[in-house]
Amino acid sequence: MSTGTDSRILRRLDEWEGKEGPLPKSLEFYRRLLCIQSEAKSRVAVPKLGLSEEAISNQIRRGSPLLGFDDLSIDWSLLGNIFEEVTTLFTSYSDILGEVPQSPKDLSSCPALLKEATKAWFEGAQLPPQMAVSDISEDILEVMIHTTLSPFLISHCEALLSLVNQEQWRRGYCPICGGNPDFAFLDKERGARWLLCSRCDAEWLFQRLECPYCGTQDQSALAYFTNDEGLYRLYVCERCRHYLKAIDLQHTDYEVLLPLERFLTLDIDTQAHGDGYSSCAKARQGEGMKSNAGQLY
Ligand SMILES: [Zn+2]
Ligand SMILES: [Zn+2]
Repeated sequence: MSTGTDSRILRRLDEWEGKEGPLPKSLEFYRRLLCIQSEAKSRVAVPKLGLSEEAISNQIRRGSPLLGFDDLSIDWSLLGNIFEEVTTLFTSYSDILGEVPQSPKDLSSCPALLKEATKAWFEGAQLPPQMAVSDISEDILEVMIHTTLSPFLISHCEALLSLVNQEQWRRGYCPICGGNPDFAFLDKERGARWLLCSRCDAEWLFQRLECPYCGTQDQSALAYFTNDEGLYRLYVCERCRHYLKAIDLQHTDYEVLLPLERFLTLDIDTQAHGDGYSSCAKARQGEGMKSNAGQLY
């Protein structure tokens, strides 16, 4: 997703507000978050590509995501500033986030710890034990690290995604960063299913009849529900009990802004949780990633 997408989302939210009055709290939060991230993205230098075309094509064929933590080019002082802004924002939305991060400022004043935490989060490992002393839950801390790192990951994705041979990938985890998908869409042309990375917004082609989280192709374990207009889908898997939200672009006649759709469909998450399914979008890498970890790190 480009900066262009960010500004189109911001414009659409402003239009809604102009027409319908104040935005729901969740969208207001998202708008403020997007402003921070979009501003940050304009300051992120476009990453240099250290990989040859041949190396990229080999990694894709092997099922190894293109970026390991050490491949990321990150300006750590910029990241520290973003983390502070994110912290301030989260503190002021404790009513919807449920928990007040009390002392993450300690983190931004300790760059080494923030770097270690960012690495752990990226690699799907436990956050450093020193963090247990802060009064923030690990879940919220992970979301904060995720939103802080996101402008960097998205910039890397923009530089690399066009080099991925989609037909050769078709795996349940992101070809760029190894993250899990948290949204999907069926394309307008032929209704093919694409997944959206929860971490770097990469889009990649995936089978319609397979669970991206556990890989089952057992049709008796897979199902989906649609809303009345047939616009949204909720895919569920009885084997791993995870769910995936999707939008069918064949049913749309307006420009769909995928990152925004995550926030427009929070009621589908509520429905899925109520039915006993859980999200697998938490920033953990897929099983395939783990089995490839040896080659990457
Ligand atoms: Zn990704
Ligand atoms: Zn599954």
